[in-house]
Amino acid sequence: MTRTSQTTMQAALVEQFGKPLVLREVPVPVPGPGQILVKTEACGVCHTDLHAAAGDWPLRPTLPFIPGHEGIGIVTAIGAGVKAVREGDRVGVPWLYSACGHCEYCLSARETVCAEAEFGGYSKNGGFAEFILADPNYVAHIPAGLAPRDAAPLICAGITTYKGIKETQAKPGDWIVISGIGGLGHLGVQYARAMGLHVCAVDVDDGKLAHAKRLGADVVVNARDGDAIGAVKKATHGGAHGVLITAPSLAAFKQGVGMTRKFGTCVLVGLPPGEFPTPLFDVVSNCITIRGSFVGNRLDMAEALAFAVDGKVKAEIELQPLSAINSVFERLERGAVASRVVIDFAAAS
Ligand code: NAD
Ligand code: ZN
Ligand code: ZN
Repeated sequence: MTRTSQTTMQAALVEQFGKPLVLREVPVPVPGPGQILVKTEACGVCHTDLHAAAGDWPLRPTLPFIPGHEGIGIVTAIGAGVKAVREGDRVGVPWLYSACGHCEYCLSARETVCAEAEFGGYSKNGGFAEFILADPNYVAHIPAGLAPRDAAPLICAGITTYKGIKETQAKPGDWIVISGIGGLGHLGVQYARAMGLHVCAVDVDDGKLAHAKRLGADVVVNARDGDAIGAVKKATHGGAHGVLITAPSLAAFKQGVGMTRKFGTCVLVGLPPGEFPTPLFDVVSNCITIRGSFVGNRLDMAEALAFAVDGKVKAEIELQPLSAINSVFERLERGAVASRVVIDFAAAS
């Protein structure tokens, strides 16, 4: 095993829910048997990091913890018995940090719902730090030719929207609604186009909608327009075959169900805390499927990255140093980030 000479590192920690992150110098973790140490080059900031830091969800992480689940870096040390990666490899440390590998969900490649799954930047420390400890069996393998800063948003926002679109079962030529054109949605528009779908983009912000148009959306609808459901139904001739809701807003969920075509599928990936009312009669009488989708498995990851290598999908990024993390959180909360902020560790060192 090799060790980095650095013994302490800069990290941004959640020490209390709902409070700003605290920048601290903490010890560089040492990889035990079966673990690897990754020197972070870049880490995207996902809206999930806001939910994590706010303690929004029923199962809260243990304090203190380091968020960030779009961390990309170079393997700098490996623990005993590690065979899956080598020192010098470029990897990503994603939301699915590890799983048991043996339960019915792991065996059927639905490993993100494994009862023993650990989550990067949540139940395990994540990428808002100069080094990340990782499980070599679950890291993303970053293809040559993909810069770390460009790869970062793909290992959560990219895989989640790519998988979510597949889960709608929409076919080439079908219509899909992408609701929420932020970090996830701006990639969702590009994946959907690359997968041969007609895209209707929905957001509450006209700037985000103009952006969706530039990325190839056929139609854009402002969710706050008087009759947004009617506008989508008109444009798609009866509703979209697939609807993917990435918006972190409960209002978007009921609206998304209303935009779904008869026999269509509405896939939920946005995770605002709470519940939304479901129009039962419409769902039943129109035979609509409502389905949750949670990131994706390791094959989805490789596929999602391959679209970027082929030049079909490109994250639009704004680089910031780790020291700016709290202002980035504040802007993301109020919808003032254009697409994705990526924390650039190369800039700081
Ligand atoms: P983001 O803040 O970058 O983007 C959210 C977008 O939604 C913004 O463009 C905003 O203007 C738009 N929006 C807000 N209210 C809306 C409404 N009522 N209708 C339509 N659009 C609306 O967030 P993000 O990083 O893209 O994450 C989005 C959500 O997805 C978060 O809740 C996050 O936790 C969740 N998420 C889920 C998974 C999963 O596996 N299911 C993975 C990653 C993120
Ligand atoms: Zn995420
Ligand atoms: Zn399992």
